[in-house]
Amino acid sequence: MAAIRPLVAGNWKMHGTGSSLVELSTLRKRLAQAPIPEVEVMVCPPATLLTRAPEVLQGSEIVLGAQDCHPLASGPHTGDISAEMLADAGAKAVIVGHSERRMDHGETDALVNAKALAAYRAGLTAIICVGETEAERSEGATMSVVKRELQGSVPEEARAANTVIAYEPVWAIGSGLTPTPADVAEVHGFIRSVLGQLLGNGQSGAMRILYGGSVKPANAGELLYVPDVNGALVGGASLKADDFYAILAVYGRERTA
Ligand code: PEP
Repeated sequence: MAAIRPLVAGNWKMHGTGSSLVELSTLRKRLAQAPIPEVEVMVCPPATLLTRAPEVLQGSEIVLGAQDCHPLASGPHTGDISAEMLADAGAKAVIVGHSERRMDHGETDALVNAKALAAYRAGLTAIICVGETEAERSEGATMSVVKRELQGSVPEEARAANTVIAYEPVWAIGSGLTPTPADVAEVHGFIRSVLGQLLGNGQSGAMRILYGGSVKPANAGELLYVPDVNGALVGGASLKADDFYAILAVYGRERTA
């Protein structure tokens, strides 16, 4: 089977105004000066910057992603944004089921599944997030939670070409804490086996499974080379171009070593 090209996606969350586009411009320049072709690079700014980012990214290979979408294409849903609107703005992918949306907005697996289907309908890649809370981990329920979320959130139509899974232990997000590389390897291997049951081994073997939760330049080297880890979803450390580039550069190291 062909090697999987890793993806590192930056999730800016509810951070950033027009002045933050300078970080995108810096990232673009750094990648132009010292490209890292081994990795696909994506940035998911807040929706307000989606129409402005393409101008900054013009001519670069940085992919634009969004952070959420409504399951329907249009309608009376004040404040919501459809996948079609995101695609129209220039996004190629959308994060769905992030734990902050599951917690802040009570999003269920069924809704996440519908959002992933909306992404496919609009021609976007769905980045589907799963992960256990601290309490679930201490109860030993990590695998059952992750399995339940995958079964409920990943549509039958999911394919390696239209879907990325992000394993994000909730307790690791924004906390500075990370699981050990051995724990990450165990959960990622388990996720791939569940995807195999759901979608067949052909799709699961080629699907990218990202790790997310407090990835920083200092720990990226040990987390990104864990077996079955095909990249990262990065929150806080994606806001500064230098930090984000330092994470991406982990993939260029083998070549330069
Ligand atoms: C995230 O929100 O997807 C995330 C991984 O955040 P952080 O890197 O800040 O932990």
